[in-house]
Amino acid sequence: MSNVFILADFSGDKATKTTAELATAAARIGAVTAVVLAGAGKGAALAATVNQGPIASVLILESDDFAQYGVAASADALANLIKEKSPAAVLIASDAYGKEVAARIAVLTESGIITDAVDVAADVTATQLVFGGSTTVHSKVSHGTPIITVRPNSVEADFSASSPAIESATANIGDAAKKSKVSSSQPPVKGGRPELNEANIVVSGGRGTNGDFAVVEKFADELGAAVGASRAATDAGWYPHSHQVGQTGKSVSPQLYVACGISGAIQHRAGMQTSKTIIVVNKDPEAPLFDIADFGVIGDLFSVLPQATQGIHAKKS
Ligand SMILES: Cc1cc2nc3c(=O)[nH]c(=O)nc-3n(C[C@H](O)[C@H](O)[C@H](O)COP(=O)(O)OP(=O)(O)OC[C@H]3O[C@@H](n4cnc5c(N)ncnc54)[C@H](O)[C@@H]3O)c2cc1C
Repeated sequence: MSNVFILADFSGDKATKTTAELATAAARIGAVTAVVLAGAGKGAALAATVNQGPIASVLILESDDFAQYGVAASADALANLIKEKSPAAVLIASDAYGKEVAARIAVLTESGIITDAVDVAADVTATQLVFGGSTTVHSKVSHGTPIITVRPNSVEADFSASSPAIESATANIGDAAKKSKVSSSQPPVKGGRPELNEANIVVSGGRGTNGDFAVVEKFADELGAAVGASRAATDAGWYPHSHQVGQTGKSVSPQLYVACGISGAIQHRAGMQTSKTIIVVNKDPEAPLFDIADFGVIGDLFSVLPQATQGIHAKKS
């Protein structure tokens, strides 16, 4: 059986559900090895959390160079591992870090790359949704090792517990990957809400909030949801850019996406169109986002959201 690599994804010191999603997709292709990149002496603790999903083995590469030389060192170590082990494919989370690592690996190993896949088949055919989700593309890498980034929340993860064999290998990092050094870094400030990329529910606000996200946040908190925003809202400084959903923001595929005061420009749709259920709250019945909504509420978000929040709260108690 062929071997497939996934790059294990972590939040803090725990493997995320994205890791289980990557493993589930990779297991269709072959036996899954989850590669863990860790600082010196930190691999075993991280690897112990990589135990959900069909993972046959965990391979730890330890080096303090990952922190010192950033993504270039991670990509170099992975590329050297791929050259040595020749896996059938490499699956990586399709976030900013994952896509940069994947692109560098593809160059270093002279391989083809497919980004933002929403599915991967047993024959390593990747599915992508392009042009704002209006067109489905099936494609296959024809040269080298297929390097595929997979959007979080796109694949139904198999969360069954696994007890993979844990091994270590040397992290080979060449001098070319050490040409720029990270002099300082700051972990992102995290609130109590789930990560936008990984959340099962996302509630987003747009220009219709007029800068007041309080009702959006209250509704999100009642649902245990992450908060997103349109570019109109982030450009106006109403919400941080890190929460922007869309073509130039984050791509999300939650079970439920609630868009409040967002018109539905193609650039916004590009980042949320694959959500499983879409609810739109907008006072304009002609808003284009209603075209792709599963449920629509025509109304003022400042009256709809507090009522919905109250209704959900009452149901829970
Ligand atoms: C290259 C490029 C990249 C882009 N990337 C992105 C991207 O990543 N993400 C993104 O979102 N956009 C992006 N945009 C911008 C995009 O084209 C739109 O301008 C933007 O999405 C509009 O945001 P909006 O829907 O919040 O605002 P608007 O289009 O102004 O819509 C506001 C909506 O709120 C409704 N509304 C107003 N008041 C209320 C109320 N009280 N209650 C209920 N509804 C109300 C209105 O009826 C309207 O439909 C990009 C544009 C370009 C050119």
